[in-house]
Amino acid sequence: MNNYSPWMTPELEDFRAAVRRFIAAEVVPHQERWKTQQHVDRALWHLGGEMGILLADIPEEYGGSGGSFAHQAIVFEELTYAGDMAFGIHVHAIVAHYILNQGTEEQKRKYLPLLASGEMVAAIAMSEPGAGSDLKGIRTTALKNADGYRINGSKTFISNGYLADLIVVVTKTDPAAGAKGVSLMLLETRGAQGFRVGRLLEKIGQKGQDTCELFFDDVQVPADAVLGGVEGRGFHQLMTELPYERTILGVSGVAMIERALQLTVEHVKQRKAFGQALIEMQNTRFVLAEIKTEATIARTFIDRCIADMLAGRMDTELASMAKYWISDLQCKVVDQCLQLFGGYGYMLEYPIAQMYADARVQRIYGGANEIMKEIIARSL
Ligand SMILES: Cc1cc2nc3c(=O)[nH]c(=O)nc-3n(C[C@H](O)[C@H](O)[C@H](O)COP(=O)(O)OP(=O)(O)OC[C@H]3O[C@@H](n4cnc5c(N)ncnc54)[C@H](O)[C@@H]3O)c2cc1C
Repeated sequence: MNNYSPWMTPELEDFRAAVRRFIAAEVVPHQERWKTQQHVDRALWHLGGEMGILLADIPEEYGGSGGSFAHQAIVFEELTYAGDMAFGIHVHAIVAHYILNQGTEEQKRKYLPLLASGEMVAAIAMSEPGAGSDLKGIRTTALKNADGYRINGSKTFISNGYLADLIVVVTKTDPAAGAKGVSLMLLETRGAQGFRVGRLLEKIGQKGQDTCELFFDDVQVPADAVLGGVEGRGFHQLMTELPYERTILGVSGVAMIERALQLTVEHVKQRKAFGQALIEMQNTRFVLAEIKTEATIARTFIDRCIADMLAGRMDTELASMAKYWISDLQCKVVDQCLQLFGGYGYMLEYPIAQMYADARVQRIYGGANEIMKEIIARSL
């Protein structure tokens, strides 16, 4: 699939091949079981750590693999090419970047090596039952006391929430101060009194990826649990780090478009109707010609985004464009491809059916696509 991006190098080719072998050996054989249990095995995180793919683009001095965003993008591409939606490296890597870019030196030295090795699994908890898009409306509080802060509230839809040992909890340390009262708390979940993981939520797709409710009842954290050490910076920290998450969603989206196209071309070449292969029909050829064109445009666009990430100049508008435009295209393309599989496309044993179910949420999480358009519009 992606063998022609301008940012690829011979070293990255070798890395891609190694990641592909790892996924084939350690991820693919377990996919069905993970869907049933609704989460991956804890052991996978340790294997991923040994392989050096959890924090591929975090500096070695903090325990990461010392690669670039290209390395991390390759991990996401290869997981998608292998049909994996369970291994939550995405959220894990996102949290690592919050700590790398916004944390104190002490927080970086304490947590990043543990996240790189897979000893700790990370999650980020923003969304609440009453507030998703409108993050300023969150109600979870972290109020100061003699020992630090006491967290109260609940979160929902939290990826990696079931296995997480470290959660960045979006809280209000000053509920009267609006966005200026938001702080991000680093919560170590092991043995945390008052912290409870609720239901593993049943989703229409991405079933092997755990998604949970979380509850906080008087959960005590020390004073140095505030990300970056200073209260009230949370909203700014979120706005600064969300472009990384949105670019990643674009990277995975393009990879799924490429995989859907490849599988569909294979199918229409061998499936026959009315005495000819489906690819002989003009409609099939035109639909796939359009998809190939769109896939090429999407690849060109995401390569530009990856180049901007590598150069450290990715901005919030471009990341929002990547997130919204690619996820919209991804859902359209997967739907068109499914149509060309006929009834088989509706059967979960066919990867295209799984992709259809997995893709839908890309337009919702990471900020709904309507919110992306609001962000882009602000730059007009
Ligand atoms: C599988 C999955 C995994 C997730 N993982 C995480 C996670 O790890 N951490 C986390 O914090 N959250 C996570 N989320 C939550 C996700 O980020 C939210 O669902 C998303 O931000 C939308 O919030 P909401 O669901 O509250 O929808 P709402 O805010 O209620 O919005 C509903 C719809 O209203 C429309 N809308 C909202 N605001 C506007 C506006 N200003 N203009 C126009 N239209 C608008 C949009 O169409 C939107 O989809 C996850 C969600 C899912 C489904």
